[in-house]
Amino acid sequence: MDIPESTNFIQDIIVDDLKTGKRDHVLTRFPPEPNGYIHIGHAKSICLNFGTAKKFCGKTNLRFDDTNPTKEDTEYVDSIYNDVHWLGFNWEEPVHYASDYYDQLYDFAEQLIQLGKAYVDDLSPEEMREYRGNDAGKPSKPSPYRDRSIEENLDLFRRMKAGEFADGAKTLRAKLDLSSPNMNMRDPAVYRIKHATHHRTGDKWCIYPMYDFAHPLSDWIEGITHSICTLEFEAHRPLYNWFLETLNLKNRPQQIEFARLNLSYTVMSKRKLLELVKSGRVMGWDDPRMPTVCGFRRRGYTPSSIREFCDRIGISKADSMVDINLLYFCIREELNRTASRAMAVLDPIKVVIDNWEDGKVEEVDVENNPEDPNAGTRKVPFGKELFIERDDFMENPPKKYFRLKPDGEVRLKGAYFVKCVSVEKDADGNVTTVHCTYDPATKGGDSPDGRKVKGTIHWVNASTAVDAEVRLFDNLFTLENTGDVPDGEDPLNYLNPDSMIVKQAKLEPSLAKANLNDRFQFMRQGYFCLDSRDSKPEHLVFNRTVGLKDSWGKAQAK
Ligand code: ATP
Ligand code: MG
Repeated sequence: MDIPESTNFIQDIIVDDLKTGKRDHVLTRFPPEPNGYIHIGHAKSICLNFGTAKKFCGKTNLRFDDTNPTKEDTEYVDSIYNDVHWLGFNWEEPVHYASDYYDQLYDFAEQLIQLGKAYVDDLSPEEMREYRGNDAGKPSKPSPYRDRSIEENLDLFRRMKAGEFADGAKTLRAKLDLSSPNMNMRDPAVYRIKHATHHRTGDKWCIYPMYDFAHPLSDWIEGITHSICTLEFEAHRPLYNWFLETLNLKNRPQQIEFARLNLSYTVMSKRKLLELVKSGRVMGWDDPRMPTVCGFRRRGYTPSSIREFCDRIGISKADSMVDINLLYFCIREELNRTASRAMAVLDPIKVVIDNWEDGKVEEVDVENNPEDPNAGTRKVPFGKELFIERDDFMENPPKKYFRLKPDGEVRLKGAYFVKCVSVEKDADGNVTTVHCTYDPATKGGDSPDGRKVKGTIHWVNASTAVDAEVRLFDNLFTLENTGDVPDGEDPLNYLNPDSMIVKQAKLEPSLAKANLNDRFQFMRQGYFCLDSRDSKPEHLVFNRTVGLKDSWGKAQAK
């Protein structure tokens, strides 16, 4: 095959491996732990693993890292299938589970014992921690059980498997290097006892392999060539290699680390996300404010916008914080090209056209997408009573206010010039209705006499308006870096109270026919889609995917 050009340090390694003949193919894997829904950080890893393999005509396995029996759930497994597919990637069939390899992993553990490279320890987890010392200079001391004979270790390990001991009573540990400055190398645990039912293996096992042991061996069993993971595993790499080398396995996978995605104004820890869901502070894992893939989907993001984002952030070896506005930018750019325009009034105030015939409704043509010449126009009804945005009228406006004001004239998008002639107020002096006259010569929104108006505002005809609930979303947190909370504080104390604002809106009637896959630009308001969970024909709910204002592009331009 022609080897493509590398565009990052991971591809450098792959290109080199293919050129030198170290490898003749590429097989990566995405290894989620099914203990939560996947988030935008996982999406980065998915795009990286699947995208890299694809570039080199390779393949990618989906493997559930289900070595922790108590925290896992088939609900999560199903959601992960769904989300990876939705992002546009296909894994190699069949799907793999670390639990598929429990028999083989157990055999590998016995081999380690037989090689004199693992022992059964009776120290409690607390004692073990104490004995291991720390990397701040506290030396380790060997466990009194470290020098058990191979026979005794084998016998005890088999009895661990048979269920003779209680949780935590014994642990199989690698016999490695207690003086290593790398804590991962100080006789790490290989198997622990946990009498728990596993979502796939049921009660077959009461001992479970540790991640650091299961992971390299699962990679090897599947024939993974490049095992891409996040930076926190860098210090685990010597251990990853040690298991493979000690067991004398050939064609070993290579672990390569990259910096995880951190995104501003949100959290990425599954534990924190679960807490948000469990405490009812969001509407679920797919709440449109959540950084989960299902949350973004419900909010109206497309798979291509998320892939574009992952592409733009690139990969590196240094941790950094990505501005969430870049994500907003990616979806906005796409929807600007693809979304149909529509008119919706989110905070309505009534306008009456005094010189319009009672009961008459006329259709005007409004363009569907100025960015797309092929998108055509649609008919929008116009009549005597309309709604406009409350803040598009001001009774006592400042200078340079070009929207509707007493004696002022504006263009109603696609319809007519209207001029404000009077207002009605309630007992408290609030304007309840704005009276206007229209100029019949300005149909289509321009005046034949060359008269100009400075403002164009959107509107919805009252008699044909459709009611809808509209949800406006903002960042979930008020803190840019949620990893940087003051000492001892919980980032959940920094939730944005205005992260969701609900409006009772008036929509143009074409929106009653919207489908779940449709995307709209509500003129001057942003991009919207139906809410997949809560919208019903008799009660429409629209989500704002993103507003129109581009803070990212502006910041870049500066
Ligand atoms: P936790 O939230 O408990 O730390 P995790 O995010 O590591 O868990 P996993 O299910 O183990 O969750 O992750 C699956 C894969 O996704 C791993 O390879 C992991 O390195 C990668 N991954 C997880 N978070 C990020 C992130 N923020 N950026 C990039 N990759 C990530
Ligand atoms: Mg993990």
